[in-house]
Amino acid sequence: MRYSRGTRVILAFLVFMIFAAYSYLQIAGYEELRAPAQAADTAAPAEAAEAPAQEEIPVASDPQAETPAVQPEQGVITAPAQEAQPTEEPVPTVDPNSPYGKALANAAAKGLPQPPDVDVTSWEFTLVNGDHSIGQYEPEQLAYLHQTLDETDIQTSYNGNRCPVDLRIAEALIAMGRGCKDAGLPIFLSSGYRSYGDQAANFTRVCQNNGITDGKDGAGHYITMPAGCSEHQLALCCDITDRYYEIKSADIVKSDTVEWLLAHCAEYGFVQRFPAGKEDVTGVMNETWHFRYVGLEAARYMTDNNLVLEEFLSLYGVE
Ligand SMILES: [Zn+2]
Repeated sequence: MRYSRGTRVILAFLVFMIFAAYSYLQIAGYEELRAPAQAADTAAPAEAAEAPAQEEIPVASDPQAETPAVQPEQGVITAPAQEAQPTEEPVPTVDPNSPYGKALANAAAKGLPQPPDVDVTSWEFTLVNGDHSIGQYEPEQLAYLHQTLDETDIQTSYNGNRCPVDLRIAEALIAMGRGCKDAGLPIFLSSGYRSYGDQAANFTRVCQNNGITDGKDGAGHYITMPAGCSEHQLALCCDITDRYYEIKSADIVKSDTVEWLLAHCAEYGFVQRFPAGKEDVTGVMNETWHFRYVGLEAARYMTDNNLVLEEFLSLYGVE
């Protein structure tokens, strides 16, 4: 086949253009491919650089306490500070001159655990003893409870056959008594509320029966309180025994009922008010039967730490 010179020139031009186009596409394609490749090249080290950084971060944050490189002291300080917070945290938030502030400091000074944040001016913490008279105080509302708790209704009008207590402790007292009975132990409630007049008569009678005038036994501990100084006038307490006793004296041995009450009274907000070994603090002879309501938190703390009400309140500055 023979082509004219012009045709050959055109063919040659076309071939050149095809070659040129091919070359261009190849180069462009290469560049396109190379671009991401380069990006990958740069990204790779970036990731590589990040990777260790990311690994270091968890390593550094995980064992913050052990990586003292950056925040060693902060970590060390915050950790123990958080652990110590239960005893030290209140310092900045609690007024040290407030009752609770005093309780925190006094408890710490005595090696006692952190006391509960209770309002010691509330009714359940009213202190009555030989040094603290409540005068002619009368409870606002009495509740009359069945003495053996065979009936658990709460009567609020006078009933001479029942044990009167402050209405505010009635449910807790019934719950504790029922708990004791559910454990198979008998219970007898007596001497709840006693009026100022009743206490005056009681004081006179007990003194006469014992040949004394001040209500105290040979060791100087009260066996009967002067009127105005008895917790029974406060009505936040109750004498609880396994059965009826005409006279409750130190001769009453600990019954299973009292043992159960000692083990469980705090669960109901009660404490044994005049325990053995605390006579010099309470000023009252050991009365295994006398239980006083102080609320759940205080009862638990007092029981766990072997504190009577005088000792507990003194932590809060109540003397
Ligand atoms: Zn009593």
